Order: sequence, then C-alpha cells, then structure tokens
Amino acid sequence: MKAVSCSSNRRKQIKRVARVHEKIANTRQDFLHKLSRKLVDENQVIVVEDLCVKGMARTKMAKSVLDAGFGMLVNFLDYKLKREGGKLVEVDRFFPSTKLCNCCKHKNDSLTLKELEWTCPKCGTHHDRDENAARKCDSFSQNREIGGRLAVSSNQ
Ligand SMILES: [Zn+2]
Repeated sequence: MKAVSCSSNRRKQIKRVARVHEKIANTRQDFLHKLSRKLVDENQVIVVEDLCVKGMARTKMAKSVLDAGFGMLVNFLDYKLKREGGKLVEVDRFFPSTKLCNCCKHKNDSLTLKELEWTCPKCGTHHDRDENAARKCDSFSQNREIGGRLAVSSNQ
C-alpha cells in the first residue's frame, strides 16, 4: 500500500475549498436578494414559519439550516417589506401547520416527518404535506385561529 503524503496537495485543496465556499456564499446572497425582491414585488404580506433558526444553529442541524440561508432570506424579506409598507408574518414554531387538515381542521398527531403526503382520517382529503402547511399558515395569518399566537415581526 502507498503511504499517504500529500500534505502540500491537501493544503492547496483546503484553500480551493475555502474559495469555492466564499463564491457559493456570494452567489447565495445574490440569489436570496433576487428571490426576496421577487416575493416582495408580488406580495404585500408574506407568511413564514418560524423555524427557530438561531436555536437550530446550536444543534447538529446547524449546517443544513444555515446553508439553506433561511434566516437571511427572512431578514431580506423583512426589511424590503417594511420599506414598502408590506408586512412579514411569522407563524409560531409550535403551530402544527403540517399536522392540521386545511379542510376540516383535524389534527393528525400520527403524522411523521417522513410522510410527505397524507390523507385526513376525518374528512378523507389527500394532502401534500408542504402545500397543506402553506395553506394552514395562510389561513392562520388571516384568522388567528385555534388560539395560536401571531408574531408580527418588529425588529426595526
Ligand atoms: Zn380533514
């Protein structure tokens, strides 16, 4: 077997990786600016689910959450909306948006993270997990139903 002696190569490799990361970060920021611009142009009110990005940053999920740039997107949306008289609504992270049927409000406690689709046992409606959650968040922001808390962003 050949001995591994590539420390110089490895160092070069690390530098190259760092540069790529920087480039991705810049590209991502540019993308998030464009995405938030488009969303704000098309919507007066934007509802986001508060995923506790700061809290997650201290856990093992940190990398994927921070990589997703979700917190940054929310910040961009917030200041762009404020500047233009719009509103950012954050839905409480404990609001069970994915588990509530948007038709009959039945709460499906047995829904697991793996299930991307589910059928409501009460009214029989078939749901796409994310689409159902989005519909729930939307009606939540309009009605403040089921005693949930509504947090309107106010970090000016
Ligand atoms: Zn239902």
